[in-house]
Amino acid sequence: MADRTTIEWTDATVNFWWGCTKVGPGCDHCYAETWSKRTGESIWGASVPRRKIKSAVATIYRLQNGASWWAADAEIGKLHPNSRRRVFVQSMSDLFDKEVPDEWFAEAWDATSACTSLDIQIVTKRVSLIEKRLNGRVWPSHAGLIISIVNQEEADRDIPRLIELKRRLCIPWIGLSMEPLLGAVTLRPEWLVHLNWVIVGGESGSGARPMHPDWVRTLLAQCAAMDVPFLFKQWGEYGPYDPERPQCHVFWLGIDGHVYGVIPDGAAPMVRWGKKAAGRYLDGVTHDGYPEVVCG
Ligand code: SF4
Repeated sequence: MADRTTIEWTDATVNFWWGCTKVGPGCDHCYAETWSKRTGESIWGASVPRRKIKSAVATIYRLQNGASWWAADAEIGKLHPNSRRRVFVQSMSDLFDKEVPDEWFAEAWDATSACTSLDIQIVTKRVSLIEKRLNGRVWPSHAGLIISIVNQEEADRDIPRLIELKRRLCIPWIGLSMEPLLGAVTLRPEWLVHLNWVIVGGESGSGARPMHPDWVRTLLAQCAAMDVPFLFKQWGEYGPYDPERPQCHVFWLGIDGHVYGVIPDGAAPMVRWGKKAAGRYLDGVTHDGYPEVVCG
């Protein structure tokens, strides 16, 4: 399923199953769940069976074998110095979901591990479950691990675990997906020295929560100071007020993420532009850093 994608930081997605359980505030408006509801499926929650995607193994092998069936293929060679496809595994679920039968995980892991011509990007909100699920399986040298972090509490809890896993499992590169970013986060220098990538984005969709521009600027500055590649994916539903595109529906967003009627210190004028119009410029610049991928 979904062997091509509009996600900015990858070329293709492969999902071995669909369905999940919400585990944190970043899951509140899970787009994958919204999609599943539209199709009338009930595959979210604890003890609820997921839906296996039978075509996934064939899809990842097609990508591995270089099947060229979409026009953008030529662009990939231009964009990536090593001409390898970036493939995001499990964009509609979580690879380390404990509700999934071990046979499903084993099949997904074996196929992913065998596709050594791809740059695999695994994103999870379940860093604490990874080692148990792997149960001694080897981490492939062509796969990186990205964990989802939306606030300081998750950063303090999960980034040290991620760094420890990188060491224990010899993971070639690790990163953070800070989307939807829900508050100011300080990334400590002792973490940044181990991180290979930071992706930041705001929330989209009808219930989206706005992201203060200073949260993004601060993360950019922290990453720049430690030479960590930084990718700004999107503002999401809300973006900063733009004097070049005047709007009457301006509101003030405090640095604490609350909307104010009066203007508090540090507040930013924001507008509900919609995802497309809000775009992905930060102070007039796009940020498209990628990790240096070295595959064995
Ligand atoms: S972990 Fe990901 S797929 Fe699962 S509910 Fe949360 S946002 Fe959705």
